[in-house]
Amino acid sequence: MLKGKSVIVTGSTSGIGLAIARCFAAEGCNITINGFGDKDAIEKERAGIEKDFGVKPIYSGADMTKPDQIAEMVKLTEKTFGAVDVLVNNAGIQFVAKIEDFPIEKWDAVIATNLSAAFHAIRVAIPGMKARKWGRIINIASAHGLVASGEKVAYVAAKHGIVGLTKVVAVEAANDGVTCNAICPGWVLTPLVQQQIDARAKAEGKTVEAASKEMLAEKQPMLKFSSPENIGALAVFLAGDAAETISGSSYSIDGAWTAQ
Ligand code: NAD
Repeated sequence: MLKGKSVIVTGSTSGIGLAIARCFAAEGCNITINGFGDKDAIEKERAGIEKDFGVKPIYSGADMTKPDQIAEMVKLTEKTFGAVDVLVNNAGIQFVAKIEDFPIEKWDAVIATNLSAAFHAIRVAIPGMKARKWGRIINIASAHGLVASGEKVAYVAAKHGIVGLTKVVAVEAANDGVTCNAICPGWVLTPLVQQQIDARAKAEGKTVEAASKEMLAEKQPMLKFSSPENIGALAVFLAGDAAETISGSSYSIDGAWTAQ
């Protein structure tokens, strides 16, 4: 039933976002990919989606910290495909430091990318969804949208904020055919997490394998990373007919991290 729908996935040049884009493309959706990176590598990903799934992906280089560029990305998608039917707010960054050492500009950047970006994208995409009486908004939060860890003050604040924003949008759009849900992953092995593993291995003089096992064991009873495709499959489910009355929810996919 998702065939022919138009989907924006923010931060989809890498990791979870790229997998989500490919999962929606596999359903026959047109896709707007977005994010930073090497121009040729991004074009390779875009062309790969087109070739593998026979859909029309376009690329928007919108910086998700810039409200005017976010509005342009929504307009470009509406102009190209006629609508934004599904919006996946996925772009995110991390910065780790104790609150007293946390640089002000890093706080601002994490809040802008991980929280305000979703507000700006929903603000401009939802009028069209309401007018057409169909829309799906999926916000990629985190286990850190539900519980805290030290040294991640901006990230945890932004992800808790995303869970709250999700509930408000769900309430407001409840009778407009528009649902809004959050996905809260635990550890997913992507470049964002690989950087944290590498930094830990270096700081503690351990192998990358040992550091990665330790990182999992600290938080997740299930000592296994989710795959980006696991997150993509859940996003596709939340956009489908079976999920039409699921709204305002936060779905944990975290190997029992937040069950404790
Ligand atoms: P990643 O670093 O692999 O990908 C992040 C994407 O966001 C990239 O495409 C990057 O270009 C894009 N991006 C960053 N800043 C941007 C900006 N200003 N404008 C546009 N695009 C921007 O990270 P990931 O691990 O795939 O994370 C994706 C999302 O999932 C994030 O919101 C993250 O917080 C969340 N998440 C990840 C994990 C995990 O374990 N990897 C767990 C829970 C939640």
